[in-house]
Amino acid sequence: MKVSIHILSSFILFLILLPFLKSWAVIPFISAILIDIDHYFYYAFTRKKLNFKNSYIFFNELRKNSKKSGAGILYILCIFHTYEFLFLIAIFSLFSEVFVLITLGVAFHLILDYIDFLTTKANYRKSKMFLHYFKIHKEERL
Ligand SMILES: [Zn+2]
Repeated sequence: MKVSIHILSSFILFLILLPFLKSWAVIPFISAILIDIDHYFYYAFTRKKLNFKNSYIFFNELRKNSKKSGAGILYILCIFHTYEFLFLIAIFSLFSEVFVLITLGVAFHLILDYIDFLTTKANYRKSKMFLHYFKIHKEERL
């Protein structure tokens, strides 16, 4: 999903939470946006390049082109988009209210990504589990 849509929808979440959480509402807002930094980590790790702008361009081009091509599904591993990460921060939520708010933002982001996945025909997907990503053949990885 486009970053601009994540920012806009997370801002709406922020406005909904603001009367209840006051300034704490900024935590789910920020976490729902910053989770996508893992795309950069994936790009930097797999492409051995550190340019942030090129990472952004890479994923934008990938998204545009994948709708056109009829190639098979390829997978990427975005660590903050995995069930394991969600489970980990949910465990931390048992001990810290800040992590409850972070988990809320991350879960909100993942729901939006899932809606995006259902409504677009991108031929790449994020592996939902580390195990899945490391079990598939290398040819199935982007
Ligand atoms: Zn995402």
